[in-house]
Amino acid sequence: MQNDFCPGGALSVPRGDEVVPIVNALAENFRNVVLTQDWHPAGHLSFASAHADRSPYETIAMPYGEQVLWPDHCVQGTRGAAFHDGLNIPHAGLVLRKGTDRTIDSYSALYENDRITPTGLTGYLRERRIARLFLAGLAFDFCVRYSAEDAVREGFAVVVIENACRGIDVAGSIAATRSSFAALGVACISAEKVAAPSP
Ligand SMILES: [Zn+2]
Repeated sequence: MQNDFCPGGALSVPRGDEVVPIVNALAENFRNVVLTQDWHPAGHLSFASAHADRSPYETIAMPYGEQVLWPDHCVQGTRGAAFHDGLNIPHAGLVLRKGTDRTIDSYSALYENDRITPTGLTGYLRERRIARLFLAGLAFDFCVRYSAEDAVREGFAVVVIENACRGIDVAGSIAATRSSFAALGVACISAEKVAAPSP
């Protein structure tokens, strides 16, 4: 939930800011909350501006596979990389920064885009004996999708809270995300279905 992914930001997800209050309310139901923060150095190779004659939303071949090129976004220490001012989850126990290596993007909270290099989140979750993950945020068809897929691969039960997400939809990516979730058994529910914790 960062400024650059919200309306007015560098890589804005349509209506992305609408989920801020939903995410705030959801978080109150969970003792363990992890926030992820896209956190790129200037000149990151996922930026179209880092490549000659390339435009945002084109794809290029990188050593680790196909990569969508984005507008410059979430540069370390900038206002765009900061969390949305309305985000209010003071009990979040971990802020996981990702995409810090200039040469590789990291949609997933668990692995970089080579899907081999870990961020360390799997170990954090396992050591805390967390077995089931509920995912929300931006964007549904990139960071949420990749995080869900990697979490399933790591053996976690995964639930995506779909009305607490918004998508970008590059070249059919929302439909592809839904197909992937169905194939993997990732449950998609609405925020209203998340029960309050027992006292
Ligand atoms: Zn990024």
